[in-house]
Amino acid sequence: ATAPVTVIGLGLMGQALAGAFLGAGHPTTVWNRTRSKAAALVAAGAHLAPSIGAALDASPLTIVCLTDYEAVHELLDVDDVTLDGTTLINLTSGDSAQAREAARWAERRGARYLDGAVMAVPPVIGTAEAVILHSGPKTDFDAHSRTLGALGTVTHLGEDPGLASLYDVAGLAMMWSVLNAWLQGTAMLRKAGVDAATYAPFARQIAAGVADWLPGYAQQIDAGSFPADVSALETDARAMEHLIGESEALGVNAELPKLFKAMADRAIAAGHGGEQYPVLIEEFGRPWAD
Ligand code: NDP
Repeated sequence: ATAPVTVIGLGLMGQALAGAFLGAGHPTTVWNRTRSKAAALVAAGAHLAPSIGAALDASPLTIVCLTDYEAVHELLDVDDVTLDGTTLINLTSGDSAQAREAARWAERRGARYLDGAVMAVPPVIGTAEAVILHSGPKTDFDAHSRTLGALGTVTHLGEDPGLASLYDVAGLAMMWSVLNAWLQGTAMLRKAGVDAATYAPFARQIAAGVADWLPGYAQQIDAGSFPADVSALETDARAMEHLIGESEALGVNAELPKLFKAMADRAIAAGHGGEQYPVLIEEFGRPWAD
């Protein structure tokens, strides 16, 4: 038998989440501030609760997916909503401090609480491609992991409820860094008449090749030891000068390479020029100081 589940918040994401539960055969109760957004789900078999309280009462597990944490508190942090005994999974995007604060708040209100982050767009929810991260008590995750499996590939990262948000933003850092590096190269090659589509497969191969270095470099970071067994930071810094010089000569924006050259220069000035690239973790691991 499939467990009943409630979804609160039927924006683009909430509708996709509720649709995936329905598709997997879960009795699904929904609630949204703007009730009309439930119409398609109701037609597909969802039960539209008359109130938040009724929505929470309908299932042992409630998924919340609203615009932001302010909306979550505005909606649920009110006296006439009882959370006692409920398990809440908050898939609303936010930062780790908000997630930890929400976990403490839910605990005070007698609820079990997991924080989550959806690393996917609504159309892929319900397929293995949809990665959904969770953090908080492992026992609560385990109790509902089969139900959550209807949404996609669900993962538990650890007991600290802030972890899902941290992985979420760390993933964004990776995404924008790869995209920005690709745009830098594309801007340069276009000056030589090479179009973006011609360069893209080459760029893709470089990105995948560099991604393969991460596990080995991570070992250096975790060990706090950065022997230059492939290349010294000084060598990288000289190549960065080529990138900056070429960008400027071509009339392409050089801000980004100058930024990472400045970080490398600071590490070299601190005596790390003979060590390997991941020694820059020391620059990344503290606030920017001009
Ligand atoms: P939408 O703007 O489509 O939906 C927002 C939802 O929040 C609606 O249900 C809205 O209700 C509700 N809401 C906002 N404020 C309040 C409030 N004060 N009281 C009650 N309900 C409120 O956003 P999405 O569904 O796209 O996104 C929801 C969350 O999912 C966000 O945190 C987003 O970052 C995250 N997410 C979204 C992705 C996407 O691709 N869409 C991808 C990954 C994460 P109403 O309908 O009444 O306005």
